[in-house]
Amino acid sequence: MPPLDPHEGAAWPGGAKFALFLSHDVDKIFDRELFYALAALNRIRRLISRSEGRRAGRTLRRLARALVSPKAPEQDFRTILDIEARHGFRSTFFVLHDRRWRRRGARYDVEAPALRRIAGMIRAADGEIGLHGGYYRFNQAAAYRESRETLQAALGGEIVGIRNHFLRFSGAETWAAQQAAGFRYDSTFGYADRTGAREGRMFPFFAEDPATGRKMELLELPLTVMDVALFREPMEGPEALEAAWKAIEPVIAAGGLVTLLWHNDYFNEPEYREWQWTYEQLLVRLAEQKPWCAPGAEIAAWWRKRSAEGSRQSADDRTHRS
Ligand SMILES: [Zn+2]
Repeated sequence: MPPLDPHEGAAWPGGAKFALFLSHDVDKIFDRELFYALAALNRIRRLISRSEGRRAGRTLRRLARALVSPKAPEQDFRTILDIEARHGFRSTFFVLHDRRWRRRGARYDVEAPALRRIAGMIRAADGEIGLHGGYYRFNQAAAYRESRETLQAALGGEIVGIRNHFLRFSGAETWAAQQAAGFRYDSTFGYADRTGAREGRMFPFFAEDPATGRKMELLELPLTVMDVALFREPMEGPEALEAAWKAIEPVIAAGGLVTLLWHNDYFNEPEYREWQWTYEQLLVRLAEQKPWCAPGAEIAAWWRKRSAEGSRQSADDRTHRS
Protein backbone atom coordinates (compact mmCIF):
# COMPACT_ATOMS: atom_id res chain seq x y z
CA MET A 1 0.00 0.00 0.00
CA PRO A 2 1.30 3.46 -0.87
CA PRO A 3 2.04 5.83 1.97
CA LEU A 4 -0.92 8.03 2.85
CA ASP A 5 0.86 11.26 3.49
CA PRO A 6 -1.36 13.89 1.85
CA HIS A 7 1.71 15.34 0.18
CA GLU A 8 2.67 12.08 -1.47
CA GLY A 9 -0.08 12.22 -4.11
CA ALA A 10 -2.11 9.01 -4.40
CA ALA A 11 -4.63 10.83 -2.28
CA TRP A 12 -7.57 10.71 -4.67
CA PRO A 13 -9.60 8.05 -6.49
CA GLY A 14 -8.53 7.04 -9.96
CA GLY A 15 -5.10 8.57 -9.50
CA ALA A 16 -6.49 12.10 -10.00
CA LYS A 17 -3.90 14.67 -9.05
CA PHE A 18 -6.33 16.78 -7.02
CA ALA A 19 -9.97 16.85 -5.94
CA LEU A 20 -12.68 19.37 -6.72
CA PHE A 21 -15.62 20.28 -4.50
CA LEU A 22 -18.22 22.50 -6.17
CA SER A 23 -20.70 24.00 -3.74
CA HIS A 24 -23.57 26.47 -3.60
CA ASP A 25 -25.13 28.23 -0.64
CA VAL A 26 -28.83 28.62 -1.30
CA ASP A 27 -29.59 31.89 0.49
CA LYS A 28 -32.51 32.79 -1.74
CA ILE A 29 -34.79 31.05 -4.22
CA PHE A 30 -37.51 33.70 -4.71
CA ASP A 31 -36.85 37.01 -6.43
CA ARG A 32 -39.93 38.67 -4.91
CA GLU A 33 -39.02 38.57 -1.30
CA LEU A 34 -39.44 41.28 1.31
CA PHE A 35 -36.12 41.02 3.12
CA TYR A 36 -34.19 40.82 -0.12
CA ALA A 37 -35.93 44.01 -1.32
CA LEU A 38 -35.24 45.80 1.97
CA ALA A 39 -31.60 44.73 1.94
CA ALA A 40 -31.23 45.90 -1.66
CA LEU A 41 -32.75 49.30 -0.84
CA ASN A 42 -30.47 49.64 2.14
CA ARG A 43 -27.48 48.82 -0.02
CA ILE A 44 -28.53 51.36 -2.65
CA ARG A 45 -28.82 54.04 0.03
CA ARG A 46 -25.36 53.15 1.35
CA LEU A 47 -23.77 53.17 -2.10
CA ILE A 48 -25.31 56.54 -2.95
CA SER A 49 -24.03 58.04 0.29
CA ARG A 50 -20.55 56.80 -0.73
CA SER A 51 -21.01 58.28 -4.22
CA GLU A 52 -20.81 54.85 -5.81
CA GLY A 53 -23.51 55.64 -8.34
CA ARG A 54 -22.66 52.88 -10.77
CA ARG A 55 -22.97 50.11 -8.20
CA ALA A 56 -26.13 51.69 -6.80
CA GLY A 57 -27.62 51.74 -10.30
CA ARG A 58 -26.76 48.10 -10.81
CA THR A 59 -28.37 47.04 -7.54
CA LEU A 60 -31.46 49.10 -8.36
CA ARG A 61 -31.79 47.61 -11.86
CA ARG A 62 -31.53 44.12 -10.46
CA LEU A 63 -34.11 44.82 -7.75
CA ALA A 64 -36.53 46.31 -10.27
CA ARG A 65 -36.18 43.31 -12.56
CA ALA A 66 -36.67 40.89 -9.66
CA LEU A 67 -39.90 42.63 -8.67
CA VAL A 68 -41.29 43.20 -12.17
CA SER A 69 -40.33 39.92 -13.83
CA PRO A 70 -39.02 37.46 -11.24
CA LYS A 71 -37.14 34.37 -12.40
CA ALA A 72 -38.73 30.97 -11.86
CA PRO A 73 -37.15 29.55 -8.68
CA GLU A 74 -35.82 26.52 -10.60
CA GLN A 75 -34.08 28.52 -13.33
CA ASP A 76 -30.71 29.14 -11.68
CA PHE A 77 -30.47 25.54 -10.51
CA ARG A 78 -31.12 24.27 -14.02
CA THR A 79 -28.35 26.57 -15.28
CA ILE A 80 -25.85 25.46 -12.63
CA LEU A 81 -26.55 21.77 -13.15
CA ASP A 82 -26.19 22.21 -16.93
CA ILE A 83 -22.87 24.07 -16.61
CA GLU A 84 -21.48 21.36 -14.32
CA ALA A 85 -22.83 18.49 -16.43
CA ARG A 86 -20.77 19.72 -19.43
CA HIS A 87 -17.74 18.38 -17.57
CA GLY A 88 -19.37 15.47 -15.78
CA PHE A 89 -19.11 17.43 -12.52
CA ARG A 90 -21.54 17.10 -9.59
CA SER A 91 -22.00 19.45 -6.65
CA THR A 92 -23.47 20.15 -3.23
CA PHE A 93 -26.21 22.67 -2.45
CA PHE A 94 -26.42 23.92 1.13
CA VAL A 95 -30.06 24.78 1.84
CA LEU A 96 -30.72 27.55 4.35
CA HIS A 97 -32.64 26.80 7.53
CA ASP A 98 -32.50 29.30 10.36
CA ARG A 99 -34.91 31.73 12.02
CA ARG A 100 -37.21 33.31 9.47
CA TRP A 101 -38.37 36.93 9.17
CA ARG A 102 -35.02 38.30 10.25
CA ARG A 103 -32.66 40.37 8.18
CA ARG A 104 -30.15 37.56 7.87
CA GLY A 105 -32.55 34.72 8.53
CA ALA A 106 -33.98 32.15 6.13
CA ARG A 107 -35.66 33.68 3.10
CA TYR A 108 -37.84 30.72 2.23
CA ASP A 109 -39.64 27.83 3.85
CA VAL A 110 -37.98 24.43 3.46
CA GLU A 111 -41.47 23.06 2.83
CA ALA A 112 -42.00 25.31 -0.20
CA PRO A 113 -43.09 23.19 -3.19
CA ALA A 114 -40.56 25.05 -5.36
CA LEU A 115 -37.74 23.89 -3.08
CA ARG A 116 -39.00 20.34 -3.31
CA ARG A 117 -38.86 20.55 -7.10
CA ILE A 118 -35.34 22.00 -6.89
CA ALA A 119 -34.24 19.21 -4.56
CA GLY A 120 -35.62 16.70 -7.07
CA MET A 121 -33.51 18.28 -9.83
CA ILE A 122 -30.37 18.19 -7.68
CA ARG A 123 -30.86 14.55 -6.72
CA ALA A 124 -31.67 13.57 -10.32
CA ALA A 125 -28.23 14.97 -11.22
CA ASP A 126 -26.64 12.92 -8.40
CA GLY A 127 -25.91 16.07 -6.45
CA GLU A 128 -26.03 16.48 -2.69
CA ILE A 129 -28.15 18.57 -0.35
CA GLY A 130 -26.57 19.89 2.82
CA LEU A 131 -27.61 22.35 5.50
CA HIS A 132 -26.84 26.04 5.40
CA GLY A 133 -27.52 27.34 8.88
CA GLY A 134 -26.09 28.58 12.08
CA TYR A 135 -26.35 32.33 11.80
CA TYR A 136 -28.98 33.17 14.40
CA ARG A 137 -28.68 29.76 15.99
CA PHE A 138 -24.93 29.77 16.05
CA ASN A 139 -23.04 26.91 17.73
CA GLN A 140 -26.18 25.35 19.18
CA ALA A 141 -26.10 21.61 18.76
CA ALA A 142 -29.84 21.26 19.43
CA ALA A 143 -30.67 23.94 16.85
CA TYR A 144 -28.36 22.39 14.26
CA ARG A 145 -29.97 19.03 14.88
CA GLU A 146 -33.45 20.48 14.55
CA SER A 147 -32.49 22.14 11.25
CA ARG A 148 -30.98 18.90 10.01
CA GLU A 149 -34.07 16.88 10.91
CA THR A 150 -36.44 19.48 9.45
CA LEU A 151 -34.55 19.45 6.18
CA GLN A 152 -34.49 15.65 6.08
CA ALA A 153 -38.24 15.51 6.74
CA ALA A 154 -38.96 18.12 4.06
CA LEU A 155 -36.63 16.91 1.33
CA GLY A 156 -35.89 13.27 2.21
CA GLY A 157 -32.47 11.64 2.26
CA GLU A 158 -29.80 11.95 4.90
CA ILE A 159 -28.10 15.31 5.45
CA VAL A 160 -24.45 14.88 6.41
CA GLY A 161 -22.86 18.19 5.39
CA ILE A 162 -23.13 21.73 6.71
CA ARG A 163 -21.85 25.20 5.95
CA ASN A 164 -22.72 28.12 8.19
CA HIS A 165 -24.46 31.16 6.73
CA PHE A 166 -22.07 34.13 6.31
CA LEU A 167 -19.32 31.61 7.12
CA ARG A 168 -20.00 32.21 10.80
CA PHE A 169 -17.38 30.18 12.58
CA SER A 170 -15.63 30.16 15.95
CA GLY A 171 -13.36 27.14 15.74
CA ALA A 172 -13.76 24.11 17.98
CA GLU A 173 -17.12 25.23 19.41
CA THR A 174 -18.66 25.37 15.97
CA TRP A 175 -17.28 21.99 15.02
CA ALA A 176 -18.32 20.36 18.30
CA ALA A 177 -21.90 21.60 17.94
CA GLN A 178 -22.08 20.44 14.33
CA GLN A 179 -20.69 17.04 15.23
CA ALA A 180 -23.13 16.64 18.13
CA ALA A 181 -25.97 17.36 15.70
CA GLY A 182 -24.94 14.39 13.58
CA PHE A 183 -23.03 16.05 10.75
CA ARG A 184 -20.12 14.22 9.15
CA TYR A 185 -18.45 17.20 7.54
CA ASP A 186 -18.38 20.98 7.57
CA SER A 187 -17.24 23.38 4.85
CA THR A 188 -17.28 26.73 6.62
CA PHE A 189 -13.52 27.06 7.06
CA GLY A 190 -12.37 29.79 4.68
CA TYR A 191 -11.99 33.50 4.17
CA ALA A 192 -15.10 35.64 3.74
CA ASP A 193 -13.19 38.68 2.51
CA ARG A 194 -10.47 37.26 0.27
CA THR A 195 -9.57 34.22 -1.77
CA GLY A 196 -7.14 31.40 -1.03
CA ALA A 197 -6.72 28.66 1.52
CA ARG A 198 -7.24 29.86 5.09
CA GLU A 199 -4.18 29.07 7.22
CA GLY A 200 -2.80 27.33 4.14
CA ARG A 201 -5.12 24.33 4.61
CA MET A 202 -5.48 22.68 1.23
CA PHE A 203 -6.59 19.19 2.24
CA PRO A 204 -9.58 17.86 4.15
CA PHE A 205 -8.75 17.59 7.83
CA PHE A 206 -10.34 16.29 10.99
CA ALA A 207 -11.71 19.09 13.15
CA GLU A 208 -9.60 19.59 16.20
CA ASP A 209 -10.00 21.16 19.60
CA PRO A 210 -6.87 23.29 20.05
CA ALA A 211 -7.40 23.38 23.83
CA THR A 212 -7.11 19.61 24.20
CA GLY A 213 -5.43 18.77 20.87
CA ARG A 214 -8.05 16.07 20.45
CA LYS A 215 -9.23 15.24 16.95
CA MET A 216 -12.96 15.06 16.33
CA GLU A 217 -14.93 12.76 14.06
CA LEU A 218 -16.12 15.67 11.95
CA LEU A 219 -14.18 16.38 8.75
CA GLU A 220 -13.52 19.86 7.45
CA LEU A 221 -13.50 20.54 3.69
CA PRO A 222 -11.79 23.94 3.56
CA LEU A 223 -12.82 26.64 1.07
CA THR A 224 -10.61 27.97 -1.70
CA VAL A 225 -12.67 30.62 -3.51
CA MET A 226 -16.06 32.15 -2.71
CA ASP A 227 -17.76 34.33 -5.33
CA VAL A 228 -18.64 37.15 -2.92
CA ALA A 229 -15.05 37.39 -1.65
CA LEU A 230 -13.66 37.31 -5.19
CA PHE A 231 -15.95 40.11 -6.38
CA ARG A 232 -15.64 42.17 -3.24
CA GLU A 233 -14.17 44.87 -5.44
CA PRO A 234 -15.97 45.10 -8.80
CA MET A 235 -13.94 43.29 -11.44
CA GLU A 236 -14.28 42.37 -15.08
CA GLY A 237 -14.56 38.66 -15.82
CA PRO A 238 -11.02 38.03 -17.13
CA GLU A 239 -9.48 39.80 -14.16
CA ALA A 240 -11.63 37.80 -11.72
CA LEU A 241 -10.75 34.58 -13.52
CA GLU A 242 -7.04 35.23 -13.10
CA ALA A 243 -7.45 36.22 -9.44
CA ALA A 244 -9.39 33.03 -8.71
CA TRP A 245 -6.90 30.92 -10.62
CA LYS A 246 -4.06 32.37 -8.60
CA ALA A 247 -5.78 31.09 -5.44
CA ILE A 248 -6.49 27.70 -6.99
CA GLU A 249 -3.11 26.96 -8.54
CA PRO A 250 -1.21 26.27 -5.29
CA VAL A 251 -3.92 23.80 -4.23
CA ILE A 252 -3.61 21.93 -7.53
CA ALA A 253 0.17 21.96 -7.20
CA ALA A 254 -0.12 20.45 -3.71
CA GLY A 255 -2.54 17.79 -4.96
CA GLY A 256 -5.14 19.06 -2.51
CA LEU A 257 -8.85 19.84 -2.51
CA VAL A 258 -10.12 22.84 -4.50
CA THR A 259 -13.42 24.06 -3.04
CA LEU A 260 -15.53 26.64 -4.86
CA LEU A 261 -18.58 28.40 -3.46
CA TRP A 262 -20.87 30.13 -5.96
CA HIS A 263 -24.30 31.39 -4.82
CA ASN A 264 -27.21 30.27 -7.00
CA ASP A 265 -28.83 33.70 -7.06
CA TYR A 266 -25.98 35.28 -9.03
CA PHE A 267 -26.70 33.15 -12.09
CA ASN A 268 -28.85 34.46 -14.95
CA GLU A 269 -28.36 38.01 -13.70
CA PRO A 270 -27.45 40.49 -16.44
CA GLU A 271 -25.99 42.88 -13.82
CA TYR A 272 -23.71 40.16 -12.50
CA ARG A 273 -22.85 38.50 -15.79
CA GLU A 274 -19.16 38.22 -14.91
CA TRP A 275 -19.92 36.07 -11.84
CA GLN A 276 -21.46 33.29 -13.93
CA TRP A 277 -18.93 33.75 -16.72
CA THR A 278 -16.05 33.34 -14.27
CA TYR A 279 -17.59 30.18 -12.83
CA GLU A 280 -18.03 28.67 -16.29
CA GLN A 281 -14.47 29.52 -17.29
CA LEU A 282 -13.06 28.15 -14.03
CA LEU A 283 -14.79 24.83 -14.64
CA VAL A 284 -13.35 24.66 -18.17
CA ARG A 285 -9.84 25.25 -16.82
CA LEU A 286 -10.29 22.83 -13.94
CA ALA A 287 -11.70 20.14 -16.23
CA GLU A 288 -8.53 20.34 -18.35
CA GLN A 289 -6.58 19.29 -15.24
CA LYS A 290 -8.77 16.19 -14.78
CA PRO A 291 -9.63 16.43 -11.08
CA TRP A 292 -11.71 13.99 -9.10
CA CYS A 293 -14.91 15.98 -8.66
CA ALA A 294 -17.59 14.79 -6.24
CA PRO A 295 -20.16 16.18 -3.80
CA GLY A 296 -18.86 16.93 -0.30
CA ALA A 297 -20.36 13.80 1.26
CA GLU A 298 -18.41 11.56 -1.12
CA ILE A 299 -15.18 13.50 -0.65
CA ALA A 300 -15.55 13.29 3.13
CA ALA A 301 -16.35 9.57 2.98
CA TRP A 302 -13.32 8.92 0.79
CA TRP A 303 -11.01 10.88 3.08
CA ARG A 304 -12.35 9.12 6.16
CA LYS A 305 -11.79 5.67 4.64
CA ARG A 306 -8.32 6.64 3.45
CA SER A 307 -7.38 7.98 6.89
CA ALA A 308 -8.63 4.79 8.57
CA GLU A 309 -6.55 2.67 6.18
CA GLY A 310 -3.59 4.95 6.78
CA SER A 311 -3.72 4.57 10.53
CA ARG A 312 -4.22 0.81 10.22
CA GLN A 313 -1.22 0.71 7.92
CA SER A 314 1.00 2.60 10.33
CA ALA A 315 -0.18 0.36 13.19
CA ASP A 316 0.83 -2.66 11.06
CA ASP A 317 4.20 -1.10 10.37
CA ARG A 318 4.78 -0.67 14.08
CA THR A 319 3.82 -4.32 14.70
CA HIS A 320 6.19 -5.56 12.00
CA ARG A 321 9.02 -3.49 13.33
CA SER A 322 8.66 -4.71 16.91
ZN1 LIG B 1 -25.45 32.18 3.17
